[in-house]
Order: sequence, then structure tokens, then C-alpha cells
Amino acid sequence: MRRAGRVVAEILEKTRAAIRPGVTTSELDEVARQVIAARGARSNFLNYHGFPATICTSPNEMIVHGIPGDYVLEEGDIISVDCGAIIEGYHGDAAYTAPVGRVSPVAEKLMEVTRRSLFAGIDQLQPDNRLHEVGRAVQQVAEGAGFSVVRNYVGHGIGTAMHEQPSVPNYWPGSPGPKLKVGNVFAVEPMVNVGSPETIELADGWSVVTKDGSLSAHFEHTIAVTEDGPEIFTLADV
Ligand code: MG
Ligand code: MG
Repeated sequence: MRRAGRVVAEILEKTRAAIRPGVTTSELDEVARQVIAARGARSNFLNYHGFPATICTSPNEMIVHGIPGDYVLEEGDIISVDCGAIIEGYHGDAAYTAPVGRVSPVAEKLMEVTRRSLFAGIDQLQPDNRLHEVGRAVQQVAEGAGFSVVRNYVGHGIGTAMHEQPSVPNYWPGSPGPKLKVGNVFAVEPMVNVGSPETIELADGWSVVTKDGSLSAHFEHTIAVTEDGPEIFTLADV
């Protein structure tokens, strides 16, 4: 899973470096496809329940699961990129939201807060802690900044499948959840909205947007619980 995570980290870095006004989301997908091919990995997104691409690209009010295509990135957009890879049957999964050129102060704040909420959640992945402390920490950061946390989509266990039990909510669900053990691996992935947390799925059957049209950001890493605390497999400089 460390090896799969390093491939995903490289996809994060190379797609991030390609983001600028005038680039299409399908060009970002091609960047990811080339990294996966060069590293001898396989895509866990391509053909997942029929998903037609290697990454998800979700601009502005789109929360997650956007399909790369002819959308042209514009100055002032924010773009969420979600990517994964498989090495020898083991999965990595990670996401970030980046600015396209100069963006509004609220967009900057949304991205900073969402990223910080992810790392606050990751800090909770300690042996013998309870899983739902992750969501409590995410929620405190996001709502403390005046934003809302999406409820309809959550993080997950990950290993020989991309999505394994248990779910990892980004909010306190009313119970502490399972006790964390050394060797557990999770994908923690807060989705944070400027406005309400409500979501709508578009007619393409994939793209999820905010119901109120407000901006949304998404950050994700694949993390193991170790004796020394959390180890992030997908860490990259994005
Ligand atoms: Mg993901
Ligand atoms: Mg995920």
C-alpha cells in the first residue's frame, strides 16, 4: 500500500502542476493515465461501476465524481482532483482541490480549511482511539470556520478493494465507532461546502454538486494506523 500510495502521490503532483487556465479536465486525466502506465500500476477508477476515466475532476460547486471531458479550466475556478492507483492488488486513493490562477478570498479560505480539516482528522488515527473521533475533528475545523460538512458521501476503509468497511464519516455520527488497531488503513476525505451540506447528483449519474450552488472543496489521503501514529501513504506536495 505504500507503493500504491507513492504512485497516487505522483499523480497528485503531476496533475497539480498541469492546472492552469485553458487546460481541459480530460488533459488532466491524460496526465494521470501516463503516470499509472509509467509506474506499472492499474487504475482503480477506470471502469469502476462503469466510470469512464482515470481521475475525477470536479470544478467549483461540483463536490465529487466529476467526469473529465472538454470542460476548460478558467481563471478563478477551483478544481477538485480525485485519483487512485493499484499496485499488486493494493489500492491508494487521494484528492485535493487547487486554484486555477487567482481565486476569490472565500475560495482560498475554503481550500485551506478543508485541507486543515483533513489533517485534524488524520491526527485522530491513533491506536486504541475511536474511529469517529476523525469525523468529530474534521467537523470542528470546518464548521468552526463557518462552512458545512457533506454528509451524503464519506471516507472508507481501503486495502485490496478501494472501498472497504467501515465508513469514515466527516462528522460526529452519534457514536464513537470501532476502536482503531495497528494495521488499519483508511481513506479520510472531507468534502466541505461554503453553504449548505445538501447535495444533488446530476443526470450523468456521477457528478455530485452542492444543492445551493455554493463552492465545495475535497481533500483526501490514504493513511495507516501504526504504533507510532498515522502514516500517510499518499503524501505529496499539493
Ligand atoms: Mg478518492
Ligand atoms: Mg476515497
